[in-house]
Amino acid sequence: MPNKSKMNFLTPSLKRFILLNVSIFLFIIVLFNILLISITNYVLHTNLDKRLLHEAEKVVAGLDVQDSSITILDFSELEEPDFQTITDNPYFLQIYNPTGEILISSGNIKHPIVIPVDIDSEFDNNTFENLSIDGERLRVGYFPLYTDTGNKVAILQLATVDNEFKFVLTKIITFNLFLLPVIIILVLFASIFIGKKSLSPINNIIKTAEKISAKSLTSRIEIDAHPDDELGRLRDTLNGLFDRIESYVNQLAQFTDHASHQLMNPLTAVKTELEYILKKDRTTDEYKESLRQLLKQTDNMVKIVKTLLMLSKQDKNSKQSISIFNLSKLIVSNTPEQINSHTIELHIEPNIYIKGDAEKFAMVVENLIDNAVKYSPNNETIKVFLKKTDEEVEFRVEDKGIGIKDSDKEKIFERFYRSSTSEKIGVRGYGLGLSLVKTILLEMGAKIKIDDNQPSGSKFIITLKALKIEE
Ligand code: ADP
Repeated sequence: MPNKSKMNFLTPSLKRFILLNVSIFLFIIVLFNILLISITNYVLHTNLDKRLLHEAEKVVAGLDVQDSSITILDFSELEEPDFQTITDNPYFLQIYNPTGEILISSGNIKHPIVIPVDIDSEFDNNTFENLSIDGERLRVGYFPLYTDTGNKVAILQLATVDNEFKFVLTKIITFNLFLLPVIIILVLFASIFIGKKSLSPINNIIKTAEKISAKSLTSRIEIDAHPDDELGRLRDTLNGLFDRIESYVNQLAQFTDHASHQLMNPLTAVKTELEYILKKDRTTDEYKESLRQLLKQTDNMVKIVKTLLMLSKQDKNSKQSISIFNLSKLIVSNTPEQINSHTIELHIEPNIYIKGDAEKFAMVVENLIDNAVKYSPNNETIKVFLKKTDEEVEFRVEDKGIGIKDSDKEKIFERFYRSSTSEKIGVRGYGLGLSLVKTILLEMGAKIKIDDNQPSGSKFIITLKALKIEE
């Protein structure tokens, strides 16, 4: 088998984790850049627009706007170098009428830059837009010129170069180009480190789980994690599972051990009987007696195997044939009035119905009455009761036998458990009947308890849910 604990440095889970981290990081960087560029663009344009408005207001202040003419009253603003030449921050001015005829233009507009005028738009309010002319970005403002009577006679178009945005954009791109690879490498290493660290408890769990084979079921996962934490929960769940597997494997080993021992007794008896009878020639009566003994032991073995099969079927959650049946009739028809020297006294309320597997419940009745007979002195009466209240049905078997010690009252329902008292008085048994009774009752949702009988003996009391049936 390959050594599973020798693993690649970069396992698929770690790769996935790194890929996810780097992708998330890149996504955040892209988002951040988009946001940064948008905000920068907005701030720069707001500033540019304010400057354009301010300059336009200064120009308008030196104009006389009439319906038929626009006259420049004050040339000082338009004569400034920014309006005359291409400075660092030049202003290109054009005043045009609604037909697109240019009425006034600044000195620098004679330069090869031709800024188109827009006669399609109304420009009732101050409006700004970006224009790109010969690879040069321009921010252009349109300001309507009104006469004193409110007539719009012309549009003042004022443009300036928008090179700050380009500058900032270039800076952002350069910054990303140089720093991004470094940051990605850092994120990569950080992801490997964090990934390795977070996966290390899981590797610890894997190693322990590998150690836990059928031979060393006692090992448990030991990692320091809070029980509410995912790792803590994984540890506790797996440890719980290992506990159950360990106890199941132990039970199985114990069960096989006990079952072999129980079968060994009748088998030894059969072998001894056969050896004895084959030693010499026997009379027909002796053969007959011997065969009777063999039949008795075979019956015992069949009984043990039947019970074991039954118990193993219960373990596998065998299908039950659930029905509503008349428990009163079932008890009466399955209980003889006399078993050996014991009288069985029945106190059964008629027509009590319950829901469950009738065949299995018959085994419960049979086992309890058999035990009452087995563990009672000869001639003692066994009393069997069945009664019903609104909510519950109570089935009770009372004997005046050897009784059951308090310390044994739980244990006798375990497989193969037999009380020392019953062993001492030499009553034969296999310790399987009550275990079967308990599993059948559990399946039916019924309860069983044992009380002491007075002056001696035991009471086995079963309580079941009552069914209301109209007769
Ligand atoms: P078995 O009777 O074959 O030993 P059971 O599972 O039916 O197996 O019973 C388990 C043990 O419980 C018995 O060995 C006996 O010690 C005790 N027991 C069961 N029924 C009675 C009873 N009515 N009186 C006293 N002891 C009992």
